[in-house]
Amino acid sequence: MKIVQYPHPALRHKASPVTTIDKQLSVQIGQMIELMYENSGLGLAGPQVALPLQVIVMNFVGDAEQKDQEFVAINPVIVESRGTLEEREGCLSFPGLYQKVRRAKTVRVQAYNLKGELYEMNVSDLPARVWQHEIDHLNGVLFIDKMSELGRLASRKAIEEFIAEYEQARKKGEIPADLEPKL
Ligand SMILES: [Zn+2]
Repeated sequence: MKIVQYPHPALRHKASPVTTIDKQLSVQIGQMIELMYENSGLGLAGPQVALPLQVIVMNFVGDAEQKDQEFVAINPVIVESRGTLEEREGCLSFPGLYQKVRRAKTVRVQAYNLKGELYEMNVSDLPARVWQHEIDHLNGVLFIDKMSELGRLASRKAIEEFIAEYEQARKKGEIPADLEPKL
């Protein structure tokens, strides 16, 4: 399992709801959690590892030692959002790119855990940002889509570099053929 970087087409696929939580999915989620910590991320979504399922892993402090901050969210939904807050954020599929994004300040979310139990959470500020960012991934939405015009302009060079690097990797055959963009 590997984190795919922009503009890998898997990042634009809409993830399907999970219908069964089996051994294979538990193993895949475990691998996602490891990848998240290895890359010092606060969250990782299925499409980012080319797994087109509605699965998210998060740790709001990015610390593997703090398991109380670690969450697995299967088929997550935002049931309520309140307020707005513009803060800088990044994404493991855009290493090194940080830009301000406006999001709801507070969200109430529902998701299933690995045991298949439905849980609900009320979160504000950074944890709310992580939930919204990761749920966007499940819909093929990326933080560059949500930047202001100014933010997007400031990120243009970095985004062009991601595209050039991806093209190079694709030419070297480092990108799986079945996931190549079909133009
Ligand atoms: Zn992301």
